[in-house]
Amino acid sequence: MTRTPDIVIFGAGIAGLWAFNRLKRAGYDVLLLESRAIGCGQTIASQGIVHSGLKYAFAGQVNALAKSISAMPDLWRDALAGVGPVDLSAARMNASSQHLLIPSGFMGGLVKLVTKKALGGNVHEVAKKDWPQDINDSGFKGSVIYMDEPVLDVPSVLEALVAPYRDSACMIDTPDDPMGFLARHDIAPKRIIYTGAASNHAIAKLNGDDKGLKTQARPLLMGFIKNAPFPLYAHCVGTSDKPVATITTHTTQDGALVWYLGGAVAERDKDSDPQAVYTATKDMLRKYMPKIDMSAFEWGVLPIDRIEGKSDTQNHLPDTPTVHKAGDALYCWPTKLTFAPMLSDMILKDLAENQIAPSGKISDFSDLKRAEITSTPWDDIGKETSWKKDV
Ligand SMILES: Cc1cc2nc3c(=O)[nH]c(=O)nc-3n(C[C@H](O)[C@H](O)[C@H](O)COP(=O)(O)OP(=O)(O)OC[C@H]3O[C@@H](n4cnc5c(N)ncnc54)[C@H](O)[C@@H]3O)c2cc1C
Repeated sequence: MTRTPDIVIFGAGIAGLWAFNRLKRAGYDVLLLESRAIGCGQTIASQGIVHSGLKYAFAGQVNALAKSISAMPDLWRDALAGVGPVDLSAARMNASSQHLLIPSGFMGGLVKLVTKKALGGNVHEVAKKDWPQDINDSGFKGSVIYMDEPVLDVPSVLEALVAPYRDSACMIDTPDDPMGFLARHDIAPKRIIYTGAASNHAIAKLNGDDKGLKTQARPLLMGFIKNAPFPLYAHCVGTSDKPVATITTHTTQDGALVWYLGGAVAERDKDSDPQAVYTATKDMLRKYMPKIDMSAFEWGVLPIDRIEGKSDTQNHLPDTPTVHKAGDALYCWPTKLTFAPMLSDMILKDLAENQIAPSGKISDFSDLKRAEITSTPWDDIGKETSWKKDV
């Protein structure tokens, strides 16, 4: 017999998962289909930062992106406290806030002025006597700014979003033919939501839904440093509109601390020389935190694209999530992990406008294989290649 869930979602990254959890909680009958493993794309590769907008104000002006994203930390904090539209009370944060490190003589005054004015109390300078001990001991000289930017433990967020509804989060074995999969399994939803990131555009084309659709991929070669000396969550500001490095800290399964590096050190083609990422990172550390002992460092890289709707500005990201509507399908890109709640609001608005109400039923998908949660990139390095020694 044909199953008629309200909604099928293709792609279990943060976009699909957040929408899945939110729609299930609202009483919709939803099937989430994943081609590899839950969270395995950009989501697990993300640094887990819930941006407040400060990073996007480095150019000395607060742009539309900085403004639209500044409401997000409160939404995530509500969810983490179990009082938001999704319940993330079982998830963890790696850090409840971040720091901005502005070396002496840099554009600090301008950044502080602009961001404080536009982003309110989410940012303030930390008096030298209150600096975190590790930053003090690292030899850093300049201003330390507190930023209201939680850093998520992404695997625990994935688990919290999927756990209540595991039976409806399943695998698709023909991701290039999503409609064929539904037909073969007698599944006929009222609405289809595509959150497959890189695959979305090709599927829109296959479905004849790509008129007016524009997307972009911006490459990164992210850096890892194993045996990091202390946990650090910071944007290191330079003279351009991008931080020289954005550093978050993660722990491998064997207990090693890993610094994960984005920002300018990682802004390069995916096939460029990996050693250059490490060299740029060490140069940055020598300048910003000269007392750090680098002798035990091991390193690796992760080539990856950021996939999103196309921005009008060269090599920049859109100000909000992108939703492309065609017939009964929505093709969605959150733009940032931070924006997942806003993307779900947009999806719910579309459902309401089209009178697609929650049916309150729960279809049986026990014939489909359950989807599992992905491993992390900092654990995969050790398995798939090997950490490189500092020579
Ligand atoms: C290195 C890096 C660091 C980042 N750091 C941050 C950060 O700190 N903070 C922040 O806010 N944002 C960050 N971002 C951006 C953020 O990670 C992405 O915007 C977000 O994760 C995208 O989520 P998504 O669900 O659209 O895509 P993905 O996470 O890529 O998920 C897509 C999923 O769909 C699956 N899939 C693909 N095709 C199909 C199909 N046909 N059928 C079924 N499943 C399919 C894939 O296997 C995958 O699991 C970062 C991005 C990168 C690359």
